[in-house]
Amino acid sequence: MRRYKIAAIPADGIGTEVIEAGLEVLNTLAARDGGFALEVEHFPWSSDYYLQHGHYIPKGGLERLKQFDAIFFGAVGSQEVPDHISLWGLRLPIAQGFDQYANVRPARVLPGVKSPLHNGKDIDWVIIRENSEGEYAGHGGRAHKGLPIEVGTETAVFTRAGVERIHRFAFEQAMKRPRKQLTLVTKSNAQRFGMVMWDEIFAEVAKDYPEVKTNRELVDAVTTRMVLKPQTLDVIVATNLHADILSDLAAALSGSLGIGPTANLNPERDFPSMFEPIHGSAFDITGKGIANPTATFWTAALMLEHLGEAEEARRLMEAVEAVTASGLHTPDLGGTATTAQVTRAVCDYLQG
Ligand code: ATP
Repeated sequence: MRRYKIAAIPADGIGTEVIEAGLEVLNTLAARDGGFALEVEHFPWSSDYYLQHGHYIPKGGLERLKQFDAIFFGAVGSQEVPDHISLWGLRLPIAQGFDQYANVRPARVLPGVKSPLHNGKDIDWVIIRENSEGEYAGHGGRAHKGLPIEVGTETAVFTRAGVERIHRFAFEQAMKRPRKQLTLVTKSNAQRFGMVMWDEIFAEVAKDYPEVKTNRELVDAVTTRMVLKPQTLDVIVATNLHADILSDLAAALSGSLGIGPTANLNPERDFPSMFEPIHGSAFDITGKGIANPTATFWTAALMLEHLGEAEEARRLMEAVEAVTASGLHTPDLGGTATTAQVTRAVCDYLQG
């Protein structure tokens, strides 16, 4: 029996609903297969926990998390806590503390799902987001608060080591795909230093991957290419902020934010990697039982792949796609199904 220790951090809003659904599907898959088992420990770290205790992650929390094979994360964000506090309190300390520098976000239109694009079927992308530095390096400050001379700085930090490793990772991903194509996204016309360094290091790393076809886009231009010529893109590598924005667009073009998955990988496996849906805590639908769990199911499949369970991941995606194809959709996809109904249908397919 192959056993994996999973830390579940559902956190806020619909995070708790979709992680519960995701675990139900994973446990059904494990029970049906019999070859692997998940030992899941729940961590109550959330915005409510923060309001009670004054912190998201208690002392020694990261040390405890280190002992797990993977982290299954819901969403963080609450109306009672400013977003920059919740993000820097929970998700970023884990992603940065565990050097999960490669954020991988696949996007495609699942069967039965309608893209807002007439040519949405052509979407088959993997967005690679640099996840450890750049615009999220946490460098900056405020001075003269409240005075007319107040100043706020937000410095993006790019290091050669950080840029080189994400490019190398992106080339490796491109090598695994049939089209072997990689698009570099920066803004190196307006930003002359870090962004130009990104371009230069990309060209250096490209020399080691002669089979990969490469091209370059500015971040503004790539948004139009995503909409107008989706078939021309395959793997995309971009900075922390740029890729964050592009992947929300990619998820929306794939039919809904409720579909897109994310893997925050520490490729060297020195630390556990973290898996989460792209979407946030979605206060507008929290507690209504209608959150689309598909993003979390797809995320669970990415987690299985990372754990070495590629065949189980494939079976899970087969079940997810059979259910999306059947037309059983939550309201974000134009249907009337509940989270529980979609989850049941995926479990039934796995058991059938
Ligand atoms: P964050 O800043 O935490 O990333 P966000 O601003 O991107 O959050 P979300 O919480 O992701 O916002 O929600 C954006 C919109 O998408 C909301 O209208 C929400 O209801 C919808 N949405 C997000 N996730 C889902 C889901 N799983 N199922 C259905 N609708 C969703």
